[in-house]
Amino acid sequence: MVGEKASVCGRARAIVYDPTTTEIPLSPCSNRPDMDERSLTVAAVRTVGPDAVAIDVETPDDFTAQPGQFVKLTLEVDGEDESRFYTISSPDVDGEFEMTVGIDPDGEVAPQLADLEAGDAVRIEGPFGSDYYEGESRAVLLAGGPGIGPAIGIAERAVADGNEAAVVYQDDAPIHEDRLDALREQGVLVHVLDGEADLTESVAEATSAGGQVFIYGFADFLDDATAALEAAGVDTEDAKVENFG
Ligand SMILES: Cc1cc2nc3c(=O)[nH]c(=O)nc-3n(C[C@H](O)[C@H](O)[C@H](O)COP(=O)(O)OP(=O)(O)OC[C@H]3O[C@@H](n4cnc5c(N)ncnc54)[C@H](O)[C@@H]3O)c2cc1C
Repeated sequence: MVGEKASVCGRARAIVYDPTTTEIPLSPCSNRPDMDERSLTVAAVRTVGPDAVAIDVETPDDFTAQPGQFVKLTLEVDGEDESRFYTISSPDVDGEFEMTVGIDPDGEVAPQLADLEAGDAVRIEGPFGSDYYEGESRAVLLAGGPGIGPAIGIAERAVADGNEAAVVYQDDAPIHEDRLDALREQGVLVHVLDGEADLTESVAEATSAGGQVFIYGFADFLDDATAALEAAGVDTEDAKVENFG
């Protein structure tokens, strides 16, 4: 798997956040949350594909975050506080920010998030994470499952900034198809592959013009994406990676 653990102030790469704990390994620099936990208002919950919702939350005045950073969300399930991490999937946090949640029907928290409604409150802390978009001139986004959320947010931000992006997305039941179509129309290379597909060819094409590689998704996808990058001769050490668990 890409870099088991590496944390260097300012150039942290491939930090693997342990999904079995909600403690974040804070570094003295960019991993420090801007915002202690507080209650934020849900602006909308939208279905964005099979078993997936996008949750828009009102942004507090003093909250800033970059696409690709994540927040800790806490809610009460059966009388107990449960926390999970979700990555920002909007291109910015102006007014509202969005998280894209893939729902495993057997999961403890995600199905409850799908039942939220506008006006509900959620407890959020963050942002966290160092592997976000920093205005790179070309962003190559490799996404598995709900990892497409941050990948789209970054691609949209890159295009808005006049930069380039390419997206390779693997999922048996693709989501956010309207936003992927919009990116294609704006000249972004977008490959959507089913769960069984080999990533090698698409990753080789997406990386052929260089650029900063980002990888978002669960551990199995990270392994496959890393192997595809290596097959394409791309140095995986510099990839920005977020492991969903
Ligand atoms: C840094 C970070 C960022 C994350 N960002 C997102 C995000 O933007 N969107 C998002 O949907 N999730 C994200 N996750 C995962 C999220 O925090 C939860 O783990 C997920 O929503 C399952 O929670 P649950 O309570 O429903 O399931 P649980 O009751 O915790 O159990 C479900 C189990 O299945 C695993 N799982 C669920 N779906 C998959 C899958 N498709 N492939 C492999 N394993 C899976 C979970 O990791 C867990 O082990 C992120 C995790 C981390 C660590």
